[in-house]
Formats: sequence, structure tokens, C-alpha cells
Amino acid sequence: MSIAAIIPAAGSGQRLGGGTPKAFRQLGGTTMLRRGSDAVSAAADIIVVAVPAGWCDAAAAALAGAAYPVVVVLGGATRQASVAAALAVLPADVDLVLVHDAARPLMPAAVVAAVVAALRAGAAAVVPALAVTDTLKRLDPTGRVTGTVDRAGLAAIQTPQGFRRDVLDRAHRGASSVATDDAALVEALGVPVATVPGDPAGLKITTPYDVLVAEALLGLRT
Ligand code: C5P
Repeated sequence: MSIAAIIPAAGSGQRLGGGTPKAFRQLGGTTMLRRGSDAVSAAADIIVVAVPAGWCDAAAAALAGAAYPVVVVLGGATRQASVAAALAVLPADVDLVLVHDAARPLMPAAVVAAVVAALRAGAAAVVPALAVTDTLKRLDPTGRVTGTVDRAGLAAIQTPQGFRRDVLDRAHRGASSVATDDAALVEALGVPVATVPGDPAGLKITTPYDVLVAEALLGLRT
């Protein structure tokens, strides 16, 4: 079976600050885009990255010398639009698709392999899941607590999310609202979404604190 990986990397990274789009920020001298692509490369026959306007050349430079075929496309105004733009250029022979955020540059290969194994075993959609450890509460707009959510049965969901290509195509074509992940679109079709264990090392880099954690994980800080 032919597997493609889509790397949505077209976010602005406003919450991280610094001006440069997040995927083009470096961790230990390597862009998050390159690290994110490398993280899924062992499982993918081709990688399609979606980048912000004006960053195609920078993406090609960041991915130069990669030992896997890479296609760079222009992303969209939302993550969902960026994934759709990448989906639109996938070769016809692709059967399975992994969607992996550039913002998760350190996802261990074992999680990627587990997602692929679940797809190969017949799942139509698979996501890595982590147990939620904090107590979760609902707040009103003023910040006052209005209730406590039972965290049993809740999970934090990571990427790569894996899909049968036909299912992901259908989910994006039928999308009626903007979702923050692809599995939500598949859920809306009524297709079951399986889980595999995620890994905290695959954290999503959103804030400067997350950069500190990632640098520590890379041994750049003690
Ligand atoms: O903003 P957030 O961190 O949730 O974005 C998740 C991923 O989606 C990031 O890798 C980001 O680059 C990507 N993204 C995108 N196109 C957008 C917005 C976000 O590819 N318009």
C-alpha cells in the first residue's frame, strides 16, 4: 500500500511570537518543518507540506537533501484548508494518508509506526491519544467555574492522524464547519476513529514554554 504524509505547516505561529512562521523556527539548528517531516518519513512514500504564502522556497531549502520525495504546496487560511490543499495534489496511487502537524517535530517513530500498523490492520481512521491528567472545568466568560468535567473517558489527541485515503477525501469534501483536526471531519461522517497510545514527547509546540521543553528533550538544555 502506498502511504503519503501531509504536513500542515502554514500557520503563522502568533502565539509563539518572533515573526517567523512557526514551522520555520529552528530547534537545535533544524526547522520544525524538517523535524516534523523527518519524524514521519520512515512510514511515508511521499510527503506533501503546506506552507504559508511566500515560504515555498524556504520550505524547499529546509527539506533539501531529504531522503524522501517532497512536494510543497501553498497552504490555506485554516489548518483544514491547508490539509485540503495538500490532499488535492496526492498521487492517484496513495491508499493511506498520515496528517502530521509541523508543530509536533519530536513525535517518536514508534507512535507513527503504531498508527500505520492500525491502518494496515483495517482501521479507517487512527489517532494517537494521551490520558488527560489535569482536572478539567467549564468556565463562564468571566472565568468563573460553572462545572467540573469528568476526565475519565477523555483524551488529548496528537498527530500523526492516519486515514484511509478515500475516507479522508470524503471527510474534507463533506466538511460543513472548520475543525481543528482531521479526525473530527471523519467523525462527522460517522466513521469510527481508533486510537493508539500517544507520547508526551510528541508535544505540540505552541508557546515559548513548549520550545524550552522541546530543547530539553533534544538535550540542548539541562
Ligand atoms: O495553530 P496550530 O498550532 O494549532 O496549528 C497546527 C498545525 O497546522 C501547525 O503545524 C500549523 O503550521 C498548521 N496550520 C496550517 N495552516 C493554517 C494554520 C495552521 O497548515 N492556516
